[in-house]
Amino acid sequence: MIKPRFGCLGITDNCMLRCKMCQKWKPDIFISEKDVNKFPTVAQYRKFLYELRELVDDDFVVNFGGGEALLYPDIFEVIKIASECGLRTNINSNGFLIDEKVARKLGEAGMQNIKISLDSVDPKIHDYMRGVEGVHARVIQAINNLHEFAPAMNVSLISVIYEQTYRGFIPLIEWINNNEKIEHVLIMVAMQPNNTEPEEHWWSSKHGFLWPKDKAAVSVLMDKLIDLKAQGYKINNEIVQLKAAKEYLKQPDKFVKSTICNMYKAVHVSAIGQIFICFNYGFLGDIRKGDDIRKIWQSQEAEAVRREIKNCKKNCHFLINCYFEEDELTEELQNQ
Ligand code: SF4
Ligand code: SF4
Repeated sequence: MIKPRFGCLGITDNCMLRCKMCQKWKPDIFISEKDVNKFPTVAQYRKFLYELRELVDDDFVVNFGGGEALLYPDIFEVIKIASECGLRTNINSNGFLIDEKVARKLGEAGMQNIKISLDSVDPKIHDYMRGVEGVHARVIQAINNLHEFAPAMNVSLISVIYEQTYRGFIPLIEWINNNEKIEHVLIMVAMQPNNTEPEEHWWSSKHGFLWPKDKAAVSVLMDKLIDLKAQGYKINNEIVQLKAAKEYLKQPDKFVKSTICNMYKAVHVSAIGQIFICFNYGFLGDIRKGDDIRKIWQSQEAEAVRREIKNCKKNCHFLINCYFEEDELTEELQNQ
């Protein structure tokens, strides 16, 4: 039996920013009104996390995502439970709320890694993308606060290539590389904004303003990033992922992997407790109902989803930006 290798709790869909590239701050178009903010309780998360721990290897990381994950009312308690039961932990954040108190609480809860979004060294560009003035300054302050008040935590950044950011990308990578408070950067590429109706060719729709138009210039940028990675720059992506991103930016409708998506090894939980492997292939359980992830993972329904993933050729955000591994591991699935 394949074990889960990637885990993400999308612990809230709420957010205080007004990003151009994400509409999580608008009413959720995928959740009915009666379910909005019907978050699982801490006790329900406890049961789920302890059961998950029995299913996974010691190096398994639970990612806390959102929305802005720090807006979940009991976030520090849930992080503490994940740490106590022996899961490794990472939280993604826009950095806006990380003052001294929050930095200390994250450290005390045992959070091991944090990834903060920063798309430009230019405050005007970052704040424009985030739709709120002063976000860039808050991110810099958050990095300093975490360094000082949660020194055991690894602080990394996530930076995304958009039409508005790609020209300033190398200065951003240089700045990160020279900043001793930052562990590394995870590079991502433009995707259709969250919480919008799926569109097949989103890059040529109303959201196309995010899509880098000058293909030659973006190809040069990707080659440069691959070169910097090979030189040992603090870039977290493997070269194979950067190469796939380069292909995607050239031809967004061509599937970027040589074999299949890795997501068959993922466990996701939505903000309202729905358990799924891939968002595109339905929900398999609900932690608010006490469903046991150990049984779900081994169920026929989960196997059917894994078979569907084998044939999926969407270039979605999760494939390209979230969980990208070398293709050789797919042999596990082929032999199932
Ligand atoms: S990208 Fe992050 S910070 Fe921006 S609206 Fe979406 S969840 Fe909030
Ligand atoms: S490519 Fe995207 S939609 Fe398809 S299986 Fe992978 S994560 Fe799911």
